[in-house]
Formats: sequence, structure tokens, C-alpha cells
Amino acid sequence: MSQFDVVVIGAGPGGYIAAIRAAQLGFKTACIDAGVNKAGDAPALGGTCLNVGCIPSKALLQSSEHFHAAQHDFAAHGITVGEVKFDAAKMIERKDGIVTKLTGGIKFLFQKNKVTSLFGTASFVGKNGDFWQLEVDDRGEKTTVEGKHIIVATGSTPRPLPLVDIDNVNVLDNEGALNLTEVPAKLGVIGAGVIGLEMGSVWNRVGSEVTILEASPVFLAAADQQIAKEAFKYFTREQGLKIELGVKLNKITSGEKVTVEFTTAKGEAQTAEFDKLIVAIGRVPNTHGLNAEAVGLQKDDRGFIVVDGECRTNLPNVWAIGDVVRGPMLAHKASDEGVAVAERIAGQKPHLDFNTIPWVIYTDPEIAWVGKTEEQLKAEGVEYKKGTSGFAANGRAMGLGKAKGTVKILADAKTDRILGVHMIGPMVSELITEGVVGMEFSASSEDIARIVHAHPTLSEVVHEAALAVDKRALHG
Ligand SMILES: Cc1cc2nc3c(=O)[nH]c(=O)nc-3n(C[C@H](O)[C@H](O)[C@H](O)COP(=O)(O)OP(=O)(O)OC[C@H]3O[C@@H](n4cnc5c(N)ncnc54)[C@H](O)[C@@H]3O)c2cc1C
Repeated sequence: MSQFDVVVIGAGPGGYIAAIRAAQLGFKTACIDAGVNKAGDAPALGGTCLNVGCIPSKALLQSSEHFHAAQHDFAAHGITVGEVKFDAAKMIERKDGIVTKLTGGIKFLFQKNKVTSLFGTASFVGKNGDFWQLEVDDRGEKTTVEGKHIIVATGSTPRPLPLVDIDNVNVLDNEGALNLTEVPAKLGVIGAGVIGLEMGSVWNRVGSEVTILEASPVFLAAADQQIAKEAFKYFTREQGLKIELGVKLNKITSGEKVTVEFTTAKGEAQTAEFDKLIVAIGRVPNTHGLNAEAVGLQKDDRGFIVVDGECRTNLPNVWAIGDVVRGPMLAHKASDEGVAVAERIAGQKPHLDFNTIPWVIYTDPEIAWVGKTEEQLKAEGVEYKKGTSGFAANGRAMGLGKAKGTVKILADAKTDRILGVHMIGPMVSELITEGVVGMEFSASSEDIARIVHAHPTLSEVVHEAALAVDKRALHG
């Protein structure tokens, strides 16, 4: 039997990072993961993020953006290309190559940091003195592993839709949506959240007629509504995505085609027929196979493992991080919780501020934000001032051919401390870090306004927005 100081269950961005940090801190560490590669014939580390989430979706977004640019944008640069053809299978092959490289990279990092990597499904058995006992089931072969500290990082799975089964042939979850080798003529997407919008964008750019059906009457309810409204305009008017808000689904039938019967926000009954349907209505915590009940590991009524602000569960020395616990389902949140837990086990006092976790949607233009929205500040009765600036007149954005979008900075009316930064525009996934760093260091909008920003860069729009908070924008 193997004994470890720390055993991590799950090798997604939460678990593998927790394991590496624990090993760096001198703990004898093991990480158990049940993930397999696309072919299903070999272990694949990296969890949802690397295998069927963040990384593959961004690979497809890039490929589809190139195809779209070759068709629609190159001519303005004086570049003439012949007939532009698209090979979906090749795009998927490229994406698979990136996934294989990165998942293999974690194997290397485990070796480098002396993390013992075990393949199989881990479940709680009980306690042996100070050690928690886990059973590891590797395709029927069972072993026992003991750990003084257990970090549960078992992630999440797609939320099922009661109206239809996901077969990943006609009705797809994220896994199926990332593996289509032919462009569906008509694609339906249930859910206009991050995953629905990103997947809808990919297939829309390569020629699908995409319809997104969303139950909420508000588009991107979690985002600042000024930014959300601007995004809705670009996606629907300029890019041709059909987005129906406030929809009630009535019936879904999957055969040769997928038929969706729904009622619109105006109360009209409608039927839509699609070649493929992507279901992207959120994700649910994954505690399947953990045998949590055997040891009394507490879950809430939605299935999340209950943790305190520092990721402690109700059981001594059992921690839980990432998608399987409360908070945003984001890879970087999972990773930072992993680092913090490893450091807490080592007696350190790390701190993770949920208010400064950035959010990004990788559409075109991209959307990113950190901190409070205007709607939240109003609801909380906080007095604030705001500054906005656009990419339309930014030289670098013009050169890129992406001169659209807005940056908005919200600051406390009295102290000028930055309360939120909201962006839509080119590469704002990268620009948002300035807002995150600023908020982490309790910066005022004046601090950003007084920092020299390189010219010509997209970051000058952030600078202008900060100047605009004090009504002294130079280019506005
Ligand atoms: C299409 C898509 C796009 C996304 N894009 C982004 C993005 O751009 N940015 C972002 O921040 N987030 C994105 N996300 C979300 C992100 O993938 C998750 O937040 C992140 O993967 C959560 O990490 P985790 O470590 O908690 O869990 P996971 O990544 O889900 O990993 C959990 C691991 O635990 C293993 N496991 C589960 N149970 C057991 C068990 N009993 N024994 C052993 N192993 C077990 C699983 O096999 C899996 O490998 C995206 C998600 C999807 C689906």
C-alpha cells in the first residue's frame, strides 16, 4: 500500500496544479485521474480544460477566425486569395495535436516535480489512523492509496437537458461540439452562455447557419449590460448569429434531423429543424464515483461539495477545489484554489479574492471583465463614476482591422478606487490583466491614467477610459 502526505483526486487545472505546488512544498504527493484521451485507449491528464474545454475550444476559434478572415478581411489588405476552402476534419486534427501536446506536458511536469501519477477512479474507503484511505480502480484492477491530506478536484460535467439525450452524434455536448468533422448546414445551440457563444461562433464562421436559443430574457446576464448589449449587436447584426432570448423549450425530437419546439418570449409557438444541436446549458459538479457518502463528505442540494472560504470540507484534512465547489467554473479559479490549498497545508496563509477573478468570452470581439458591473453597483447602492473609451479610433486596432469595442472603468465616487473593468474588443482577454493587477493593488483610476502606456497599442484604450473617469480623455 502506498502512503502519501497529499493525494489529489483529479488532474484538471485545479488538481494538477495543486499536486505540483504540494510537491514543490516538499510533500510526498500523488495525483489520481480517470481521464482518457479522445480514442479512449490511454490516460489523458488535464481534465475538462485541456481535453474538452478551454484549450480545444480556443484552437477551433482561431482556425475558424483565420478562415473567416481569408474570406472577408484579406481583400482590404490587398491580399487576393483563390477559392478559400475549409476542411473541418483538418481543423479538428490540429486541435487534437494541441491537446495531445499539452496533456503530455502535464505528464512531464509530474515527473519533473516528483508527483506520483496514478490512473483510475478514486473513491473514499475510510480512515486508517491519520490517513484517509482511497481505492483506485484502474479498469477493474483495484489498489489502495492512503493520504494524510486529500484534495478533491473532480471537476464538472455538462448539465443534461431533460427533454433529450445527448448522443454526441446529433445532439452534442461540448465534447461532440469540439469534434464535428463536417460543417452542419443548420446548427442549433441551446444556451447563450460562454460555451454556447464560443461554439456557435466557431461553426457560424465556417458556414453553419446558427440559431441560439436562450431561456433567460437577458443576454449575458452576468456581464455589464452596456457591454452585453454591444456584443449582442455585433453577434446578431454583423455576424448573423440568430439569438432568441426568453425562450421556453417544449419538445426536442432527434432523428435524421433534430427538431426543437419552443415558445418565444412573445408567446409564439415555433418549430426549428437543425442538422446538429449543441446543448450548452451549464455544468454540474462531478462527485460521481467518489463514494462521498461512505465517509460523510457533505454536499449541498445542487451537488457541490460544501467548503469554507479556504476550501476546507466538513472532514478533517479533506479539501475540495475547482468546479466541484462553489464559485465561478473557471480554470484559473480552480488552479489558484489548488495553489492556495497546497500552501495552507504547508502552514502558509494565501488569500484568493473572488472579486478580482477575471472572466473572458473568446468571441470576436472578445469580452472580458473583472470586478463589479454597473448593475451590481446600483443594486448595492454604491456611488461610482465611470469612464469609457472605444477601439474605433485606436491606431493599433485599426491596423489589426479590429477597430470596434469599448473599455469601461468603474471607480468609487469618493475614493476613486477601481471597482470594475469591463471590455469588449480585440484581445481584451489579454488587456483585462491590467484591470486585475490594478484591482489587486487597490489602484485608483488615476493610477491607471498616470501610467505610461506604449504607443500604438490596444492598451491605450484602457488608458483613455481611465482618463475619461476624470473627464479628461485626450482622444475622446
Ligand atoms: C467547452 C468549454 C470551454 C471552456 N473554456 C474555458 C475558458 O476559456 N477559460 C476558463 O477559465 N474555463 C473554461 N472552461 C471551464 C474549465 O474547463 C473548468 O472550469 C475547469 O476545467 C475546471 O477544472 P477542475 O480541475 O475543477 O476540473 P476538471 O477540469 O473537470 O477536471 C477534473 C478531473 O477529475 C477527474 N475525475 C473525476 N472524478 C474522478 C475520480 N473519482 N477519480 C479520479 N479522477 C476523477 C476527471 O476525469 C477530470 O480529469 C471551459 C469549459 C468547457 C466545457
